[in-house]
Amino acid sequence: MSRCAFLSLPRAWEAARQLGNTRSSPRKHGVRGLCGVQRATNTRHSTPLPRNHLLTLSAHQVARSVRSGELSAERIATAYLEQVAAVEASVGAYLVLDAEAVLERARSLDARRARGEKLGALAGVPIAVKDNLVTAHLATTAGSRLLSQYTPPYHATCVERLLRADAVLMGKTVMDEFGMGSSTETCAYGMTRNPVDTTRTPGGSSGGSAAAAAAHMALAALGSDTGGSVRQPASFCGVVGMKPSYGRVSRNGLIAYASSLDTVGPMGRTVGDVALCLEAIAGADDADSTCLPGAAPPFWGRITEALAEDQAPLRGKRIGLWTEALDDIQVDDSVRATILQARDTFTALGAEVRPVSLPHLAAACSAYYILASSEASSNLARYDGVRYGARDPEAANTVSMYTSTRTHGLGEEVKRRVMLGTYALSAGYYEAYYRQAMRVRNVITLALRGLFEDVDWLLAPVAPTPAFRLGEKRAVDMYSGDRMTVPASLAGLPAISVPGKVGEGQLPVGVQLIGRYLDDEGVLLAAAALERATKA
Ligand code: GLN
Repeated sequence: MSRCAFLSLPRAWEAARQLGNTRSSPRKHGVRGLCGVQRATNTRHSTPLPRNHLLTLSAHQVARSVRSGELSAERIATAYLEQVAAVEASVGAYLVLDAEAVLERARSLDARRARGEKLGALAGVPIAVKDNLVTAHLATTAGSRLLSQYTPPYHATCVERLLRADAVLMGKTVMDEFGMGSSTETCAYGMTRNPVDTTRTPGGSSGGSAAAAAAHMALAALGSDTGGSVRQPASFCGVVGMKPSYGRVSRNGLIAYASSLDTVGPMGRTVGDVALCLEAIAGADDADSTCLPGAAPPFWGRITEALAEDQAPLRGKRIGLWTEALDDIQVDDSVRATILQARDTFTALGAEVRPVSLPHLAAACSAYYILASSEASSNLARYDGVRYGARDPEAANTVSMYTSTRTHGLGEEVKRRVMLGTYALSAGYYEAYYRQAMRVRNVITLALRGLFEDVDWLLAPVAPTPAFRLGEKRAVDMYSGDRMTVPASLAGLPAISVPGKVGEGQLPVGVQLIGRYLDDEGVLLAAAALERATKA
């Protein structure tokens, strides 16, 4: 399959060309199917709102219309491909996008419907997938040069489930290498720009997925969240991003970063779209022993019903406003104002909002980086040129082959994490770092459990600031920006970022809601209520 088959869609190519985004050859590694982003100028602009109304339909509306035959999956796919052609060159969300395969898939769904088959809950819904989720016969790189030649033989369970629900897989999205980063700048094949302001980062590591959803280049997208990588880019790009409870969604086929923290999470323009995707991908999986038993609850139907019946759906609910996160001196004024506005909205919706204390921001961040790096050092040992990874064929012996494979294949940030993690796990330092970080993790988990005896949800910023500029921060300077997302990750709790109310012309700011373990439905409901009130 051609990785640049996007070019084979004449109309889309023509549209891109007219915009002046010509390209003559694929990237050096032949992975990135669409180019132009590297040459995009640094002048600020935001991607135009889509003119085609088909791009504004919700996932449920698309699926319902495709199932009934009112709309063809092909029309939907074509509309999204045209949007990709118009804006991808200035955003750069995709690593691989095969337009012919997208259209073929859409046509096959239409043919099945025409034969009288009943299509699934995501019939014809175009969904992009982060490139650390393996896809059969479609390049999967996790943003690393080391995996530039890797084409997996199977689909990740969540991808398989999207396809079983009759979604259309748009392509694979740009990400920080192996999920390590907060800006999508550490990808070996080039970065992604924030569609809201192309001089800024889309956040990371799932920046490609967030940008694809925000710029209407996919209706929804899957990302992965180890310490905030779904929530933070969602906040930066103005979309919804959910990190489900740990174990809610199978990790089978998710290229591991830190296995005790990794989760797969949906992103989309509305809470409803995210709920529908989560419903499709969640549930027990024999291929992942950490995946919880039982089928996924019908999230979408339940929140839709709860909202339809009640104008004050949060009456009697208690929300804790995380004071240390809000009072943090580095929190930007626009972020603080957005969270306080959300507090008022929740109060108007019938909830009682009270301040709560969780003073572990700095400790959570330090513990997270020790633990995530330790697990990464172990998980990434498999990229040795033997089991996985593009081997250096010139090397004289085995040891120099390992060395040069990893030296050339891994980026700077990944090497930093591997070294940090290996150090923290080594004899003599294990007690002081790894064991101590595990203790901090326990303290935070217990503190959160205690808080949830008094409140139903925790309200907090997602990140201290809105999207920062590309190149503005060094990787290590970004670490502390994760302090508001990592506590939920360490404790395995469900958490969501939903766009808050911001002033005209301001950058998007996400509102974070964290819920009790396994109360993904409650988190979705609170977020949907906030979304409805914010948009009203
Ligand atoms: N920014 C965090 C990190 O670099 C979180 C990444 C993630 O959630 N994948 O580790």
